[in-house]
Amino acid sequence: PASDYDVIIIGAGAAGLMCAATAGYRGRRVLVLDHAKKPGRKILMSGGGRCNFTNMNSTPANFLSDNPHYCISALKRYTPQDFLDLVDRHGVEYEEKAPGQLFCQHSAKDILDVLLTECDWSGAEIRLKTTVTAVEEAHPGYRITTNAGPLRCQSLVIATGGLSIPTMGATGFGYDIARQFGLQVLPTRAGLVPFTLPQPLKEQLAPLSGVSYPVEAQCNGQSFREPMLVTHRGLSGPAMLQISSYWHPGDTLAINLLPGQSILNDLMALRDERPQATVAHYLNQHLPRRFAQAFNDLQGWQGPLQGYRNSDIEQVAEVLEGWRVKPGGTEGYRTAEVTLGGVDTRQLSSKTMAVADRPDIFFIGEVVDVTGHLGGHNFQWAWASGVAAGNVA
Ligand code: FAD
Repeated sequence: PASDYDVIIIGAGAAGLMCAATAGYRGRRVLVLDHAKKPGRKILMSGGGRCNFTNMNSTPANFLSDNPHYCISALKRYTPQDFLDLVDRHGVEYEEKAPGQLFCQHSAKDILDVLLTECDWSGAEIRLKTTVTAVEEAHPGYRITTNAGPLRCQSLVIATGGLSIPTMGATGFGYDIARQFGLQVLPTRAGLVPFTLPQPLKEQLAPLSGVSYPVEAQCNGQSFREPMLVTHRGLSGPAMLQISSYWHPGDTLAINLLPGQSILNDLMALRDERPQATVAHYLNQHLPRRFAQAFNDLQGWQGPLQGYRNSDIEQVAEVLEGWRVKPGGTEGYRTAEVTLGGVDTRQLSSKTMAVADRPDIFFIGEVVDVTGHLGGHNFQWAWASGVAAGNVA
C-alpha cells in the first residue's frame, strides 16, 4: 500500500521544522508530529525570549562531540549567513548583542513564525498533541503508531531534542528509537547549566547573589572569558554555563578573577608605592565592591601590603588568577540549555544525517551527540542538520 506520507518527522522543534520545510519544498509529502500542544516551545523561551538564533562566527570548534569532525560538513553547507538570509527574507528585525550573536529585536516568536510560514509555504503539515507510541519497519518504510491512529512513511526523521527542561516536553524518546535500530547512545548529561556550590561556600557567597563581572573560567583544558554571575544557589552567567559543558562531577574549576591583569606585578608595585595599602584596596579597584570585600574576607587577607613577603604576594596572585572552586554539582536538566551526549554520530552519515546502513531514517538536532557552545551555535546546528536531512529525506 502507498505510504500516507513520504516523510514523517517526530519533533516540531527547531531542527524538525527546518527539515520539514526543506523536504516540503522538494515536493515531498511531509508530516511533523509533536506530543506538545504547541510547536517550537524551546525556540520561544530561548535567549531570554529573544532567541539567539545563530552566531555569525560559528565554527566546528564551537561544538562538543565524541566525534568532532561529524558536524563539519552540514555546518559548511548551511551557514549562519544562510539562516540570516532566510530571516531577512521574512523581514525579521534582529540585533547583534555580543560579537556574532544575533537575537530577535522583538521576540523569539518571530523566528518560530519564520519556520511555521516556511512549513506552510512548502506544504508540510504539522500535527500536534500526537504521541508516538511505536515505530516499526514496514518494508518499505515505517509504520508509526500514535494516539491518533497509525501512519505510514517512507523516510523517518527523529528530531525529538535532548532531555533539558522536562517541563517543556523533553523526552528520551529519540534515544529509545536509536537503540531500537541498533545505534549506540552515548551517556547524556546536562550542559550550559549553572553550578551549585557545597557549604560553606554557598552560604559565604549567597549575600553576593546578583553580582556579575567578567572572569576567565577554566576546566579540562578549556577556558572561557565571559561574565560570571553569583546566584543564591551557586555560580552562573555565561562563563559558568560555557565551562559547565566541559565539567564532570568531582572536577575543580579555576577562575581567574582578574583576567588580562598582571596581578603579581600590580601587587608588587602597589606594595612599593603605597606600603599601607591592603589587598582589599587592590581588589576594590578591579572588582565589584561587594564581591571584592567578601572575597577578601573569604581568603582572610589582612593588614597592609608592607607586611607581605614576596612569597605571600605570589600566593595572593595565584589565588586571584586561579581561584579553585569545586562545585557540588549542577542544576541538572531542570535548567540546562542543552543535553551533552546522545545518539553516537559514528553510525550516521555526516552528509545526510541518515543511519549508515538505513538511508531512510535520520537523526537531527540536539538528540545527536553534537552540542554547541552558548551563543547561538545550538540553533545553528539545528538548522544545518535539519537542512542536510531535509535535502534527502
Ligand atoms: P527541540 O527544539 O527541543 O524540539 C524537540 C521537539 O520534540 C519538541 O517540540 C518536543 O515537544 C518534541 N518531542 C520530544 N519528545 C517527543 C515525543 N516522544 N513525541 C513527540 N514529540 C516529542 N540555543 C541557541 O542556539 N540560542 C539560544 O538562545 C538558546 N536559548 C536556550 C534557552 C533555553 C532556556 C533552553 C532550554 C535552550 C536554549 N537553546 C538555545 C538550545 C536550543 O533551544 C536547542 O538546542 C534546540 O531547541 C534544539 O532543537 P531540536 O529541534 O533538536 O529540539
